[in-house]
Amino acid sequence: MDDRHFMRQALKLAGMGVGNTSPNPMVGALVVDASGAVVGRGYHERAGSDHAEVVALREAGDRARGATLYLTLEPCVHQGQTPPCAPVIAKAGIKRVVCAMEDPDPRVRGRGLAYLREHGMEVVTGMEADRAQHLNRMYIHHRTTGRPYVTLKMAQSLDGAVAVRPGERRQLSGPRAMRFVRSLRYEHDAVMVGSGTVRTDDPRLTVRPYRRRAVSYRRIVVDARCAVDLRAQVFKDQKRAQTIVATTEQMPAEVASALTSRSVQVLSCRATPQGRVDLVDLLTKLGSMNILSVLCEGGPTLAAAMLEAGLVCTIHLIVAPLFIPDADAVRVLAPGPVDIGLAWDKVARLGEDLVITGRPHAVSEGSLDTPARDSE
Ligand SMILES: [Zn+2]
Repeated sequence: MDDRHFMRQALKLAGMGVGNTSPNPMVGALVVDASGAVVGRGYHERAGSDHAEVVALREAGDRARGATLYLTLEPCVHQGQTPPCAPVIAKAGIKRVVCAMEDPDPRVRGRGLAYLREHGMEVVTGMEADRAQHLNRMYIHHRTTGRPYVTLKMAQSLDGAVAVRPGERRQLSGPRAMRFVRSLRYEHDAVMVGSGTVRTDDPRLTVRPYRRRAVSYRRIVVDARCAVDLRAQVFKDQKRAQTIVATTEQMPAEVASALTSRSVQVLSCRATPQGRVDLVDLLTKLGSMNILSVLCEGGPTLAAAMLEAGLVCTIHLIVAPLFIPDADAVRVLAPGPVDIGLAWDKVARLGEDLVITGRPHAVSEGSLDTPARDSE
């Protein structure tokens, strides 16, 4: 029974808050007494509810005196929706604190751990830091850049096509890959598509299970030219998931008011020289609305623009086991000036489909083929 073992348990607890804690981080806490017995457990359930350490210390009661507290994230020292946690830890008589990582929120950044040290506790940091950072990658990205973490999901054939011809709908992914996509939606604060996808696929983009979700879910349609049909599915059911149309000043006032009357939020963004929505401006606005993460579900134009702007943190490329050799086939990425490289994270099989996960980066032209390879 060592620190690593208990920290992994605390991380597991933290993960139970997935989909519900935004704009707060997921946090888990474990109180372990001198004999090595777990006497308190807690996790942050949803924004506004008690923080993990407070829940765990309440369960431990007097047994917290002289015990070790395992925390997946530095405790807060500022008054939020709930009182600060560091003084609660000191008052409980905790002797030693093992923490996975500092809180990157500007209001904390080391102050919580300093408070514990000043109050005579032994503090160990960095335990299972990689796992803790991965768990809260969206929160960390938001607090350090001010913009949401963007996950790009794409589905294609083996030869990189998404449809036989423009405007045609093609269901490529199998049921297991679709379940994976639904679980991705659940992990994110918002889903984003371009107006072309609304026209072609007319998706609902809702999240399930809806009732279990504490955080309101947003559907974002990027539409510079107000090309979407107001009867589209994405504009229905605003009580279950609010829709935001990201557009430019070119949107006619009558279209904007028609959207607003359907409870759809209109977000006017800067336009690029080509008249598209400036995605950096859009994401900065979404970040200031406390949207920590966005799942971008395409299509080819939006995906390419996101990648070219360097805004994508993770890609999940779902590859279906078929070729679409049609001459007019639509490629998964719209033509663009930048080559995109991918640092592999994982390749997995989901039913009949393959899911490739990686982190994208721009590469200069031609350099995709330069890394040394074994003879092929
Ligand atoms: Zn706290």
